Amino acid sequence: MQFIDEFKAGRAWGLLTSIDLFDCNPKKIRSAKEIKRYVRELCKLIDMKRYGPTIAIRFGSEERVKGYSMMQLIETSLISGHFAEQTNSAYIDIFSCKYYDPIIAEKFTKKFFEAKRVESYFTIRRMPWARKQKLAEIPNPRDWFFETLELNRGVALAVKGKRIYYKKSPYQTIEVYKTKAFGKMLVLDGVIQLTESDEFAYHEMIVHPALHVHPKPERVLVIGGGDGGAIREIAKHRDVKEIHLCDIDEEVVNAAKKYLPFTAVGFKDKRVKIFHEDGFVFLDGRKNFYDVIIVDSTDPIGPGKTLFGSRFYRLVYDSLKGDGIMINQLESIFYHKEFIGKTVRKIKRIFPKLWYYYTIVPTYPSGMIGFGFASKKYSPLKIRNKKLKGKLKYYSKEIHKAAFALPKFAEKIL
Ligand code: SAM
Repeated sequence: MQFIDEFKAGRAWGLLTSIDLFDCNPKKIRSAKEIKRYVRELCKLIDMKRYGPTIAIRFGSEERVKGYSMMQLIETSLISGHFAEQTNSAYIDIFSCKYYDPIIAEKFTKKFFEAKRVESYFTIRRMPWARKQKLAEIPNPRDWFFETLELNRGVALAVKGKRIYYKKSPYQTIEVYKTKAFGKMLVLDGVIQLTESDEFAYHEMIVHPALHVHPKPERVLVIGGGDGGAIREIAKHRDVKEIHLCDIDEEVVNAAKKYLPFTAVGFKDKRVKIFHEDGFVFLDGRKNFYDVIIVDSTDPIGPGKTLFGSRFYRLVYDSLKGDGIMINQLESIFYHKEFIGKTVRKIKRIFPKLWYYYTIVPTYPSGMIGFGFASKKYSPLKIRNKKLKGKLKYYSKEIHKAAFALPKFAEKIL
């Protein structure tokens, strides 16, 4: 959501949501008790601390405006409201210098007063020094999702779509959108993880290169990958005997099972075993254990941060058998060159051989994403012929070879 990024970037002084309700429940807007209950429940829902009592006084010089006016100080500013009895309408303002989700506030308010219609306006009030940027240019946040790229400021991806699921887990916010252009979309902490229309290109390419190179990939681990896409692809390999998935957040797996059947189908395979803990901790107890480890994590911000450090790569190395392969999500050579360079140096200090390859994913930053192919023994260009169970839409031997051919400007990063 665009607004949250203004707060993350420190440019927002506060967020004002003005909610106009029409055809409300006449009893509710005429009851001081109900209006005070609304304030209590709203503050709890959007995690605002009330400061002093809720004031609700009924007055009005002319019929048109007669009704209750409400005011509630909060530690991070103010909630106010005017309830016009003649037209059963209400005009509520929520202003806070602490971030809250304006859509959640709007939905709750409409439901509480049983309004038939709602019109809302969202305004970011900016820090004095922040660039003046007319928010009005930004399509209504109710119908659009924005990803302002965390690792590469100044670029946003806007996707028209409706949010159909929202959960704040102990690790991240989890959202599912139904989008016009890309079908269902999974978003974690405001970052697009996958969309129904192009996830195959990512999941086939994070899995099949390693499993077409390793001669006997019997035990394979995915760290992250809670959407199920990577294990759906691994399950296409008959020579894999055990598929382990370790995702720190069970709520992602639950959301995938409910809303993303096209990737969650992977969970049904009998060889799959799911663990929920930090991948960093999970590996510690498993030495010389896996043939292939695929790190399909979120970006190096939030819970994924621990999965991009030298100590983690050392744990992966020790957890792999003598001829093991690690594949890890390694961002975009167009947007994250320094980050990739730094990470490559870390991996090269631990693994004898490392390649970078990439795939095309229109909904990822710069439309592509890369992977590290870190190997104790095998070269990625010795590809085995294999008969798989199920179809492929992206991976082929030619694509495999081409993916390792880097553009001139990127050769140096290795
Ligand atoms: N395909 C996506 C991408 O490339 O951005 C990532 C897919 S998957 C949804 C990312 C998963 O990594 C999430 O489900 C998240 O819970 C998991 N994750 C993040 N940090 C983790 C950690 N330290 N240990 C295990 N799983 C982690």
